[in-house]
Amino acid sequence: MHLSEFESIVGKENLNYFPNTKLVYSSDASMYKGNPLVVLWPETIEQIQKIVMIAKKNFLDITTRGGGTGLVGGAVPKRSIVLNMSKMNKILDFDNDSILVEAGIVLDDLNMILSQKGLYFPIIPSSHEVCTIGGMISCNASGKRAVKYGSTKNYINYLEVVDGSGAVRKVNDVEKFCGTEGTVGIIVNAELKLEMLPKKISMDVFKFDRATDMSIYTPELKEKPQLLSLELLDPKTSSMLNLEERYHLIAEYENSLGEIREPEEIEKWDSLRDSAYSKIAGLGYSLIEDPEILDDEKLAVFMKYLEGLNVPFFGHVGIGILHPCFKQGTDLADFFKTVESLGGSVTGEHGIGLAKKKYTPKIMRDKLLLYKKSFDPSNILNRGKII
Ligand SMILES: Cc1cc2nc3c(=O)[nH]c(=O)nc-3n(C[C@H](O)[C@H](O)[C@H](O)COP(=O)(O)OP(=O)(O)OC[C@H]3O[C@@H](n4cnc5c(N)ncnc54)[C@H](O)[C@@H]3O)c2cc1C
Repeated sequence: MHLSEFESIVGKENLNYFPNTKLVYSSDASMYKGNPLVVLWPETIEQIQKIVMIAKKNFLDITTRGGGTGLVGGAVPKRSIVLNMSKMNKILDFDNDSILVEAGIVLDDLNMILSQKGLYFPIIPSSHEVCTIGGMISCNASGKRAVKYGSTKNYINYLEVVDGSGAVRKVNDVEKFCGTEGTVGIIVNAELKLEMLPKKISMDVFKFDRATDMSIYTPELKEKPQLLSLELLDPKTSSMLNLEERYHLIAEYENSLGEIREPEEIEKWDSLRDSAYSKIAGLGYSLIEDPEILDDEKLAVFMKYLEGLNVPFFGHVGIGILHPCFKQGTDLADFFKTVESLGGSVTGEHGIGLAKKKYTPKIMRDKLLLYKKSFDPSNILNRGKII
């Protein structure tokens, strides 16, 4: 299986096909399982180009892997070469409002370095300790501060990718590329836009008992220019996090006008919302969804529907994304139908991967297929994902 060819490209230390390694790389943070042929840790663009050329010649599939935190099976190999990007994690260039990085850099590592200059990359998924810039671009990830900054695509100047024939291409139309989940090109470098770290942060936490009460708070909060994030925990999630069994609406501001101002207290609420999914998953609800419903009134109707299902949910209500969590094996047909009947989208931020393939609208599939063909006509990049 071309092992000696791969070894001559990346070196013995950067190749592994032992059963335990294959097991580790057979999955991501979703429930899907696959089977890697071999795991490779490239260190240079040239190595990736050579790997792609061998894959193309032999019609082998390549699944690129960042932090493996994806929730839809995008990094799950299907008899694929797994390209682990963790050794391509360097900072290549920097000026005060942008930075050129390799795609395998972990978000928190990047932000730790940037914080010394009073800067940061402001798109922050709750998986920030592990997820990589390449994975975030590929899923067009968003996160808690999306109400102010939007999603990853808003913070990319340009990308360098290796296409399906092994050529390096500069991508300026980042809007089109973001969200292609490793099916169009292997991102090797990205120039990112940066923001100043907020000088002051404060928070308010509003508690209430009925889904419909949220409308007392959200319209006014959303109008505040210094709103950084607006996050919701439902009563079940709150109780799992050892809070009162009520709704908690957490508003974060870039000023000191909120009632919570002590850094320790802010940190406490921040880590509570970050840890919501791991806590819920640990209690048996390990299937997480990410519907997006932009209309506030319809979102309240949807929350009532979720109350009826008796499942925990939380999310970024500032941008209309909720995360209802279910037990594995739950039939979600009625759930997806309800999202669609409310004019929502079945995926707001996690992507499509394997999990949402059958919900990909035909028009989107056709567009992506055309785009993929222009980069990867031989279909060797993350075959079978999204389309
Ligand atoms: C606890 C938890 C909390 C989360 N919270 C959020 C959240 O708040 N917001 C949010 O949007 N998501 C969230 N996610 C989902 C996930 O973290 C994001 O989608 C993240 O962007 C994935 O990054 P990754 O590096 O782990 O990618 P991976 O899981 O490794 O890969 C994801 C996809 O990107 C592709 N890919 C990875 N690197 C490259 C590359 N260099 N070139 C081409 N393709 C590549 C893979 O092939 C795959 O299709 C969460 C996940 C968990 C487990």
